[in-house]
Amino acid sequence: MTALLEVEDLRIAYGKIEAVKGISFKVEAGEVVTLIGTNGAGKTTTLRTISGLLKPVGGQIKFNGRSLRKVPAHQIVSLGLAHSPEGRHIFPRMTIEDNLLLGAFLRNDREGIAKDVQRAYDLFPILGERRRQAAGTLSGGEQQMLAMGRALMSQPKLLMLDEPSMGLSPIMMQKIMATIAELKAQGTTILLVEQNAQAALSLADHGHVMEIGKVVLSGSGQDLLHDESVRKAYLGED
Ligand code: ATP
Repeated sequence: MTALLEVEDLRIAYGKIEAVKGISFKVEAGEVVTLIGTNGAGKTTTLRTISGLLKPVGGQIKFNGRSLRKVPAHQIVSLGLAHSPEGRHIFPRMTIEDNLLLGAFLRNDREGIAKDVQRAYDLFPILGERRRQAAGTLSGGEQQMLAMGRALMSQPKLLMLDEPSMGLSPIMMQKIMATIAELKAQGTTILLVEQNAQAALSLADHGHVMEIGKVVLSGSGQDLLHDESVRKAYLGED
């Protein structure tokens, strides 16, 4: 069986600087896979390239067995790949509901869209309570919920989340991680980039540790969580 996402020897450069130096990994349908690693390791660059926002200088990205090499970014969404970017990028003056509906811009099944808006409100009740308010009035954590809800509105086969816990209080972070676990239980396939290695590895099926553009260690979430070098470097243990 082919994996839903296959990344092979991917190389990405900003001008002469090679930010990603030949990484490979797979995401099988139904899995949560996480990329962890310090600032600047190339995780965000990798997600942006899978989304088609950056062009790789080498390697392959296959989604559902199909090469994404010649597929422009706007078509990649229609293939079933949704990206909740770092920093959220919500539209602060639009209402929460309109922000959610933007995620469904490729769909025209009114009933299905209404159902999925309700599903986002079931996942994140605060969004439903404030549906008519400007999105800019939400707290950082709530904006993160909105970004995730919006990404889900395209009914993605693969949901890519970039640093969903960034800047959140511990309680809000737990809430976001619990929601990722809930989405996984509902069968959503997720590629999760996180600096919070403990939280990400705890719920991931597989993880890959990135350091300056390379994958230096791969394993199951549980194996990496108990790996001594990972514990020292990323989980703050001596
Ligand atoms: P972070 O968690 O800080 O976002 P990351 O692992 O996601 O880290 P990237 O943001 O992908 O890392 O950055 C990888 C490398 O590419 C870094 O050295 C970074 O400085 C560089 N880089 C990122 N964006 C650009 C850009 N627009 N122009 C030039 N270099 C960039």
